Amino acid sequence: MSDKTSQTLRSFLWRAVNLYPDREVVSRTHEGRTRYTYKEYGERTARLANALSAYGIEKGDRVGTFCWNHHRHFETYFSVPSIGAQLHTINPLLPDTHIRHIVDEADDQLIFVDHSLAPKLAAVASGAPEFEGIEFVLMGETESDTVEGVSYEAFIAGRSSEYDWPEIEETQPAGLCYTSGTTGEPKGVEYTHRMLWSHTMATLTPQGIPIDDGDTVMPVVPMFHVNAWGFPFAATAAGAKHVYPGPSPDPEDVVRLIREEGVTITAGVPTVWLDLIDYVEDADVGLADLETIAVGGAAAPESMIRWFDDRDVEIVHAWGMTELSPIGTVSNPKYTLADADYETRLRRRTTQGLVLPGLEIRVVDDEGEEVPWDGEAFGELWIRGPWVTTEYFGRPATDEADFEGGWLKTGDIVTVDEEGYVDVVDRAEDVIKSAGEWISSIELEDAIMATDDVAEAVVVGVSHEKYQERPVAFVVPTDGADPDALSETILDRLGAEYPGWWLPDAIEYLEEIPKTTTGKFSKAVVRERYADEALIEGAAPERADHRTE
Ligand code: AMP
Repeated sequence: MSDKTSQTLRSFLWRAVNLYPDREVVSRTHEGRTRYTYKEYGERTARLANALSAYGIEKGDRVGTFCWNHHRHFETYFSVPSIGAQLHTINPLLPDTHIRHIVDEADDQLIFVDHSLAPKLAAVASGAPEFEGIEFVLMGETESDTVEGVSYEAFIAGRSSEYDWPEIEETQPAGLCYTSGTTGEPKGVEYTHRMLWSHTMATLTPQGIPIDDGDTVMPVVPMFHVNAWGFPFAATAAGAKHVYPGPSPDPEDVVRLIREEGVTITAGVPTVWLDLIDYVEDADVGLADLETIAVGGAAAPESMIRWFDDRDVEIVHAWGMTELSPIGTVSNPKYTLADADYETRLRRRTTQGLVLPGLEIRVVDDEGEEVPWDGEAFGELWIRGPWVTTEYFGRPATDEADFEGGWLKTGDIVTVDEEGYVDVVDRAEDVIKSAGEWISSIELEDAIMATDDVAEAVVVGVSHEKYQERPVAFVVPTDGADPDALSETILDRLGAEYPGWWLPDAIEYLEEIPKTTTGKFSKAVVRERYADEALIEGAAPERADHRTE
């Protein structure tokens, strides 16, 4: 096949600029709300490409971003991959040690950073050998006092607004995103042009989350989370209007943009929408033209789907993973449900849904046997297809546990019913997901057990109304230790090493941690016996507020 027919991102950019030159891109930034057209978007993307080339970025180089959702970040989305380089979107909410590790492994040449995140980056980079030689570009009109580097506008100033985009092979890596969804260090997932292209095409089908040129699309899911679930690419391919909600958007910002910009489709983790419900009820405002909310990253609560149904806004529940670019299943009702009553349809919509066209799934039990699709038998979900990764970045040696014969073993324990609706019922690994962000229970346990006066400790995820899951620590103190003082010491220690939202919402003291027959801590028993929602009522809300980290 000739390179000229490659499945690359460039065609989406070309289409938007040529068919929809006047369609808008709107962005909330620290400088206020800005707007421009696809025509200008194309020109600025070319100017950035020229600036990157002049800086020395070449095919195969990696460029990092440490940014929220805004137009400049969106410019890097097409510009960096379309010159053949690779965009590494760094999650600024990760613990410092994780950020250093991934920047080192990715070998980023240049990092674009938001003003609001500059203090965080300065703290992470200070004295860290992993950051040696990396230059920074500040996302705005101005430079920063905290991080040395040129401003983005100065970086692209004077550059030509035309770029002779090269032919790129579809197998060329376009993106890189790290996931902490398994135990151990974060793992990188590379996205080739073909993966992003095919993911875009599949999500645009009616079986996915279709977007048309009349839509206004606002991804609230951060652009450092698997390319904002691919929405910037899909909205561009469709010629839709884009709205980017900027740094740490709160529900008021989100609702204002929905109302003032006529947003029809938005997307994010359940926590965002639970916060929005509270705000809308208190402020007594409507949601204007909003039609669809794509919800994923954690299970969408049924009560939330009902609340939005009452307001004629459809929650489209999707399941995915960083390893899947990220969407794998979407809970669209099958045609067989067209005449079904509301409750029957709702039962299907609360599942994670049907696999997208282009992918295949199987459900495998502990013995490696496939289990029947009867809605009851459960096993691990395996998935394969063009936008599913088959290896982790730089780690071929660890592949066997995660991949087999082209299948990705997702670590999600599911049932599948006769119709093919996938229902996630558990996770194979002990990782906690709070408001869509991972917390490693093992890291917390190690740190707690390294504290004086702690004999044993486990950390388990407890279900939480707003954050879906929060960590709770169960600790056995050594004889004579004072629990109050010990809790303070533990929280101080964890607070020095981890972001506030990683800290357990409660520390409970036990005489011993239940053990399995082989003498290991039994988290399943701890969870079952002790962990219920009552334990974490009253948790300091600011501790879990991921947006302000
Ligand atoms: P990440 O790689 O951070 O996107 O996390 C992927 C994991 O999030 C999946 O393997 C699931 O455990 C979880 N997840 C994603 N979407 C959903 C969903 N709709 N319902 C339940 N869990 C989900």
